[in-house]
Amino acid sequence: MDNLKPRIEIDPSAGFCSGVKRAIESAENLLKSAGEVSCLGEIVHNEAEMDRLEGLGMRVMGPDDTKIQKAGSKVLIRAHGVPPETYKELKDKQVVITDATCPVVLRLQQKVKQASAEMLQVGGTVVIYGKPGHAEIAGLVGNASGNAIVISTPDQLDSLDFTKPMMVFSQTTSDLNLYREICDTILSLARKTATGETKVMIHQTICGQVSRRAPAIEKFAGSHDVIIFVSGSDSSNGKYLAGISKFVNDHTYIVTGPGQLNPEWFAKAYTIGISGATSTPQWLMQQIASEIESMI
Ligand code: SF4
Repeated sequence: MDNLKPRIEIDPSAGFCSGVKRAIESAENLLKSAGEVSCLGEIVHNEAEMDRLEGLGMRVMGPDDTKIQKAGSKVLIRAHGVPPETYKELKDKQVVITDATCPVVLRLQQKVKQASAEMLQVGGTVVIYGKPGHAEIAGLVGNASGNAIVISTPDQLDSLDFTKPMMVFSQTTSDLNLYREICDTILSLARKTATGETKVMIHQTICGQVSRRAPAIEKFAGSHDVIIFVSGSDSSNGKYLAGISKFVNDHTYIVTGPGQLNPEWFAKAYTIGISGATSTPQWLMQQIASEIESMI
């Protein structure tokens, strides 16, 4: 390319959501004051950030590690939240809990709890659209006292009884368009029941910080020649957003860190955009920008 140096821009909408930021700040404060903390599961789905925090002294607990905690040990609950039984188990063991459950998730847990109580009275059920096995789903189902059915694909709707009342919620990080499709199908199936009566109540509970990212990455990806999308390999939000970027801009490259950058990607680029998931740390995107700067 000519002597013109490509312009590099970090996506202003990329990086930690407020819930993850808050949980990481809690971990850092605990590490400063106590020198150690155990987090129930990975605090964020990003290998580089996990390495940084583990280097500062954070330990990641597996689901069964709650059973072996000693009185006085310090446990951090991450942004996804946990079911009520986990709080009880930790309290019974006299563990010092720091609860970094995201306030948005906490409010959803309360709504699900209330909905479950109402549905139990009228013989109805709570339906939650989300990823089975995800920590947030486990917390929501726990708050429904087991009276919740988790749906992750439209074909699973056949197992629901549409003659009975139903309250529908979504995991906060689900895809808004897919949730809309699921809800439309639920409503149309409910209308086809014998009474023709719709007893379904839909709640839109996808976090705005997630749903706003899709149109933002679409715009950002379309305004650069090359996109470097930085994400942990386990981040579902990362996979989803990187997919949108790739759809809009064929020159989207997904990396977990600067070591994966290839100078050939930038040979014909006038503008290079760097974006990431809601679990990608700002410092990592800046590191990527510096590395690209040194390559071009
Ligand atoms: S995505 Fe939204 S609900 Fe989930 S942790 Fe982040 S701010 Fe909270």
